[in-house]
Amino acid sequence: MTIWQHNRALEAGSDFLKGGPKQLYINGEYSAAASGKTYWVNNPTTGQPLAEIADGNVLDVDRAVAAAQAAFEGDWARVKPQGRQQLLLRIADLVERHYDELAALDTLNMGAPLTRTRAMRSRALSLLRFYAGLATMPHGATIPNSVPGNVLSYTVKEPVGVVGAITPWNGPLTLGIWKIAPALAAGCTVVLKPSEQTPLSSLRLAELCTEAGLPPGVLNVITGQGVVGAALSAHRGVNKITFTGSTDVGQRIIAASAGNVKRLSLELGGKSPNIVFADADLDLAVPAAAMAVFANSGQVCSAGTRLFVQRQVYDEFVERVAAFGSQLVVGDPADPETNLGPLVSERHLSKVVSYLDIGHAEGARALCGGERCTSEPFDSGYFVRPTVFADVTDEMRIAREEIFGPVISALPFDDIDEVLRRANDSDLGLGSGVWTKSLKTAHKMSQGLRAGSVWVNCYQAMDAAVPFGGYKMSGYGRESGLEHIEEFLETKAIWLNID
Ligand code: NAD
Repeated sequence: MTIWQHNRALEAGSDFLKGGPKQLYINGEYSAAASGKTYWVNNPTTGQPLAEIADGNVLDVDRAVAAAQAAFEGDWARVKPQGRQQLLLRIADLVERHYDELAALDTLNMGAPLTRTRAMRSRALSLLRFYAGLATMPHGATIPNSVPGNVLSYTVKEPVGVVGAITPWNGPLTLGIWKIAPALAAGCTVVLKPSEQTPLSSLRLAELCTEAGLPPGVLNVITGQGVVGAALSAHRGVNKITFTGSTDVGQRIIAASAGNVKRLSLELGGKSPNIVFADADLDLAVPAAAMAVFANSGQVCSAGTRLFVQRQVYDEFVERVAAFGSQLVVGDPADPETNLGPLVSERHLSKVVSYLDIGHAEGARALCGGERCTSEPFDSGYFVRPTVFADVTDEMRIAREEIFGPVISALPFDDIDEVLRRANDSDLGLGSGVWTKSLKTAHKMSQGLRAGSVWVNCYQAMDAAVPFGGYKMSGYGRESGLEHIEEFLETKAIWLNID
């Protein structure tokens, strides 16, 4: 048996990876970066080079924005909402047909288990089809006014224009589709800047969009480092930035986008509380609390990383979560038996390991994990064991800062008012979970938690129709639901003096 045999087979079977460097996708075709430079992305499982990628810069952003502007003012403007709907449905059909290939690219590129990337299929397709359905929905209103005479006033909805979509690496395909689908439904054109570490599925998606009949320039993909995102954020030809990523970069985008007062939607970081009351169904809550953090090796923005457990059941609960974590299989993400693949990169591995060191140094007690996997063959990839830190206090850095790895910080609490105050004592406010059989507790917590999502007796339930987003420094704007298409629309008021 060869080491990482499933991974190697997946890589060998990928046609998309064959045939030289991956280039920029502008105006419906591939072209080299203006600088001629490229860089390599690694397979995080093996630590070996996976693909050579064009290293875009500000000149490439200029080209892509010009293509997106031309498309916005040209043919695309004449495509009726019904036409956009048909296009999105065709894109969905092609994504469905090629879904296994797209899932394989994400698994190879970022290390998420194939079982997970394949399970995201329904999410990717439902986003495309939901926003196809909404393409014909935006409409204005006729509004009575107080102006003397026979003056009609009404509103129309118009696409905001050229959108810069900037995505992170933790769900490359789905996070891209999440932005592209409503933007296209609204009639915008898009320049997508995927994470420098995980651009592969975004490029393949752009090819499929062209195959579906999307006109040239409507969706462009510029690969490269943060400078590409910075150039998009500052570009006067870009009307809106929709960003998913860290709070730090989100703040930089706010500053960079001030020049032309861009519209912004920001989906940023989280340090979400998951709160287990003593009356909860613990058999349900234990695996859910574990997977609320260990899924995707903790690289999920809404991971329930601050695990508050009521003191009566605290010891039993955290030990059961640790036992659950210990039996999870860490390994080759292409192997169907694997629960946790590697982290995305060596750099991110160092960050997560530094937080493990901080946790130990702060006096937290690791009930499981607490270290990088260093034995062969794990040592060449970026693997960390699922970790449960007990005896954590609110002041510790592992309880306050986003780690973005498979690390649970468990904190005991005594009563509802106390835990509500402590759960809300964070600059971030993305997700939150509550486990209880009491309707009163569920209501009080749902009303009191300062977070964009509250999951009661479940965690990370998602649907294309239900808005998702952050309070406080977790960002603003909402993705999914009716709210999301509104993020790509302007409202114009028209006054018509009939006399
Ligand atoms: P990141 O902020 O480092 O990078 C995100 C994207 O921004 C990348 O494409 C990157 O190249 C680009 N970028 C870097 N510098 C930039 C700049 N100055 N201007 C514009 N763009 C720039 O984030 P990451 O490390 O890729 O992803 C992890 C972060 O994403 C975590 O903080 C996580 O919580 C967050 N996230 C949030 C959500 C959500 O829905 N709220 C979802 C997934 C991930």
